[in-house]
Amino acid sequence: SNKAVLGPLVGAVDQGTSSTRFLVFNSKTAELLSHHQVEIKQEFPREGWVEQDPKEILHSVYECIEKTCEKLGQLNIDISNIKAIGVSNQRETTVVWDKITGEPLYNAVVWLDLRTQSTVESLSKRIPGNNNFVKSKTGLPLSTYFSAVKLRWLLDNVRKVQKAVEEKRALFGTIDSWLIWSLTGGVNGGVHCTDVTNASRTMLFNIHSLEWDKQLCEFFGIPMEILPNVRSSSEIYGLMKISHSLKAGALEGVPISGCLGDQSAALVGQMCFQIGQAKNTYGTGCFLLCNTGHKCVFSDHGLLTTVAYKLGRDKPVYYALEGSVAIAGAVIRWLRDNLGIIKTSEEIEKLAKEVGTSYGCYFVPAFSGLYAPYWEPSARGIICGLTQFTNKCHIAFAALEAVCFQTREILDAMNRDCGIPLSHLQVDGGMTSNKILMQLQADILYIPVVKPSMPETTALGAAMAAGAAEGVGVWSLEPEDLSAVTMERFEPQINAEESEIRYSTWKKAVMKSMGWVT
Ligand code: ADP
Repeated sequence: SNKAVLGPLVGAVDQGTSSTRFLVFNSKTAELLSHHQVEIKQEFPREGWVEQDPKEILHSVYECIEKTCEKLGQLNIDISNIKAIGVSNQRETTVVWDKITGEPLYNAVVWLDLRTQSTVESLSKRIPGNNNFVKSKTGLPLSTYFSAVKLRWLLDNVRKVQKAVEEKRALFGTIDSWLIWSLTGGVNGGVHCTDVTNASRTMLFNIHSLEWDKQLCEFFGIPMEILPNVRSSSEIYGLMKISHSLKAGALEGVPISGCLGDQSAALVGQMCFQIGQAKNTYGTGCFLLCNTGHKCVFSDHGLLTTVAYKLGRDKPVYYALEGSVAIAGAVIRWLRDNLGIIKTSEEIEKLAKEVGTSYGCYFVPAFSGLYAPYWEPSARGIICGLTQFTNKCHIAFAALEAVCFQTREILDAMNRDCGIPLSHLQVDGGMTSNKILMQLQADILYIPVVKPSMPETTALGAAMAAGAAEGVGVWSLEPEDLSAVTMERFEPQINAEESEIRYSTWKKAVMKSMGWVT
């Protein structure tokens, strides 16, 4: 039977900004056996605001678990072979809920949300120029991006949140915490925890001592009792306890034993365990992470210092330098949902292929300001270089090119900070199925782009962490088990000079995108 061949299986929840997935892997071969995916709604209640419904997110997880279990059944695979579950999640997105009722007290404030711009401005005035303790403790620049300011906004503006804090009923968490609390029983004994990678994106976490930081909590005015317990990325947090209103009872009692922010999970899933190894993930945004080992490396070029992973309670912590781009796949979704020039994200490739060039059109999708390397909240999106010749295909092409140029800027910064230029770029994420994008990326970076044939590296990383946890022990992270990964390669095809000209015009366009909001 299948059972004998398969051995233990590990499930992974991959809760992204665009969609939720549940995937099941064979722990011996890392083979993906089955999965299910559901798109998540995004609400834009005001200009610059981005929200999601925490309940919808949770229900999408249940739906994905149920559907994946059904598919496994159809494949004659016994779901009782699932020995552990890992969680990977969109980072920074902030939820506050009531621990007595289990109800969220406001929508999730998504990482892209800009409502905290004035909060950020007034807080920055309180940081002494010669002692940027926020940056040195957290590795992060003060920005709308991170959870602390979103939580500050909720405490200042939402009566229900204020009241729940006063009555000691409020719990704060990023999406991992919300999901793990709910999946381990919610109001009936749910475990309120997060892992070091997610904690390192809140701006309340000291990345050196690996603890919530009292001074930071005071600075942001955050009551420490609402924060989750911080755990390693690979240990048993609790057991699955499915609420009776949902059907996925099949996984009842399975340990949840892996937790990583999505970008950390992708780094693990791409097996970037050595210093200097890096990966770039193309999802809603685009995130290039480079493993810097046990050392915190601080950037001189606009990159973040962040916790990469800590795979076990007694295992050492690894850090990463990170280049974050806010808008990548989101620009394709915008062309679909706001302009309607495509019906599905995949159609962008057909449009771009028709012209094979942007014909001098440049698209800077600074919808949420610019993240790395600029950290410029005043920037807004622009499309420039238009003529009467320009059509939607050129704009489609320019949108794809924008993703590649933004990555080039990050890679340049990374090379300067690390000293040793990357010889190739390991990639993954939803957008990497787009072959035009991959070829363009190789052309614009002028180094080969390498993509694993199993693209679900984020989920794989979470599954690896879960399967390797103490007390689970079905996944070995030793190198011999990590072989047999087949890769697709894209080699640069245009000449370096042509690539440089396009890149310098892009930079001109970026300068024009700045200073729109004052
Ligand atoms: P996330 O992890 O942020 O939820 P995913 O890795 O699932 O994101 O990627 C989804 C994003 O990729 C969406 O923004 C979508 O518009 C974009 N995308 C998906 N397929 C393609 C494609 N073939 N070409 C370009 N963009 C795509």
